[in-house]
Amino acid sequence: MMRAAQTYTFHTHSMQETQVLAESVGRLVEPGDVFTLTGDLGAGKTTFTQGLARGMEISGVVNSPTFTIIKEYMGRLPLYHMDVYRMEDELEDLGFDEYFYGDGVTVVEWPQMIAEQLPAEHCEIAITRGEGDDRTLVFTAYGRRYETVCEAIKNDHSGN
Ligand code: ADP
Ligand code: MG
Repeated sequence: MMRAAQTYTFHTHSMQETQVLAESVGRLVEPGDVFTLTGDLGAGKTTFTQGLARGMEISGVVNSPTFTIIKEYMGRLPLYHMDVYRMEDELEDLGFDEYFYGDGVTVVEWPQMIAEQLPAEHCEIAITRGEGDDRTLVFTAYGRRYETVCEAIKNDHSGN
């Protein structure tokens, strides 16, 4: 039987806090992990990815891959950063499986565009804005692997 997916909620009050949270995710990632980031423009999806990259010991600047769709970075593991916002045809397959099931970690901004192509097991991170710099990040763990990751982060960030 399918169990309901577990969710984990975190609150941040600055972009730095979001990056610290994301950095702890980056320290825990393993090859084949897939994270999706949803939220309006300016919610903090790219900010989160920058923190995650830092946790993966990536030294270069991570910015929005809007014009390229997929950018690769090398740290402790490869990071594949996708922003599929500009994809015109959701059925278009840009060889996503090579990334999802490869040796790196994939982060997808605007996953709605490729919902059909996402692996069943992944972690969805939904970011919503509150007052000012307040953000709420809801992690939904699709699969045990991500429950483990989320539990570990929760222990690191209790009190948030
Ligand atoms: P997106 O990729 O979702 O469009 P960005 O990460 O590019 O969003 O932009 C988020 C903006 O919001 C940045 O200018 C960042 O400094 C600002 N910001 C303010 N507070 C926060 C917060 N708590 N978490 C993330 N970003 C924040
Ligand atoms: Mg972005």
